[in-house]
Amino acid sequence: MSNSPQLIVPVSVGVVGGGQLARMMGEAAHGAGVILTVLATSPDDAAVATCDATIIGAPSDHHSLDELADAVDVVTFDHELVDLDQVAALEANHVVVRPSAAALRFAVDKAHQRQSFERAGIAVPRFVVVTSNDDPALLSFLDAHRQVVVKAARGGYDGRGVLFPASRAEALAMVGDVARTTTVVVEERLELHGELAQLVVRSTSGAVVAYPLVATVQANGMCVEVRYPAGQKETVSGEALRLAIQIAELVDAVGVVAVELFLTERGLVVNEIALRPHNSGHWTIEGARTSQFANHLLAVSGRPLGPADPVHDAAVMVNVVGSDLPGSILLARAVSGAHVHDYGKTWRKGRKLGHVTAVGADAQAAHVTAWKSARAYGTTTREA
Ligand code: ADP
Repeated sequence: MSNSPQLIVPVSVGVVGGGQLARMMGEAAHGAGVILTVLATSPDDAAVATCDATIIGAPSDHHSLDELADAVDVVTFDHELVDLDQVAALEANHVVVRPSAAALRFAVDKAHQRQSFERAGIAVPRFVVVTSNDDPALLSFLDAHRQVVVKAARGGYDGRGVLFPASRAEALAMVGDVARTTTVVVEERLELHGELAQLVVRSTSGAVVAYPLVATVQANGMCVEVRYPAGQKETVSGEALRLAIQIAELVDAVGVVAVELFLTERGLVVNEIALRPHNSGHWTIEGARTSQFANHLLAVSGRPLGPADPVHDAAVMVNVVGSDLPGSILLARAVSGAHVHDYGKTWRKGRKLGHVTAVGADAQAAHVTAWKSARAYGTTTREA
């Protein structure tokens, strides 16, 4: 046996979408043996600076998708606002797409997700799927549930497309409005005791690694903070892991599977899933032995996964969300122990512009450090 190091043949991966997730995939790519090409809508997109090559074009433009597919071995995604028919057409042309169009449908279409999970016996909020506000199923659902949430089945993210009507009349008006563009999911509004996220990564051989459960804190439908440890009993973390593995297998995912969970009176309920690196896993860059970005790329390029164990007792990640005025990234970086990630985006109110992670032995100290740095950076979201 020779002692010479094994040669790793890089795999060429293409990512559809040039946002911050693709940017952080770009940072992890070479470590995962991947050459990453991004399909970005503009040279100013966040991922262009970190990827090896860029193709400019819309993710919904089939010429641009074909150009990306021709240039790489495997296609993956940084968001789910994709046209599934176009993705299926790539597969029909023998392009390797991971996750597949069939798997992506679960993340793209909330109605399909809710209906499939319910059939599989996975706990989800009680719901009804409708295409108009005069559907008798909707009227009897509103009779049975005083408080509901109205969700666009497709096209929503960061709370856009999620509506909280104050009355039956408002619910009917909102359903009518949303139904003009997409199918509508109307579901019971649950009393939340907390929100959690369980990330697992599944390889092409079906092997799964799991990150520890985290707690997520939301403001106005947007995640503002993520905490490890989640502070839950083992019965809860065990159930979260069981659900995430069941879902990863049900959808036949390859790559990251992020499962957003509600903690309610009747236990854990699945809110939604994402089949890509997820905001609740950004802390893994500093906080775990292999980051979610590296593991996603290892998975989609057909490699064995890296260990997902945490390397510290605690980690806190705070999103930097644009407020009226930008703060100072230099002051944010000057906070000792703060790992500042800037997405290179133009400052805009309500936009996720970066994040800060603090890790260590003490969860409270990490919380204080991450928020101090994020506030210096200019975020004005409220600290929970
Ligand atoms: P998005 O797809 O835009 O991320 P979500 O479906 O995750 O939207 O909803 C955003 C937030 O709205 C959730 O994190 C939660 O705080 C709240 N929410 C969503 N659905 C419900 C529900 N059925 N009951 C109570 N709160 C909900």
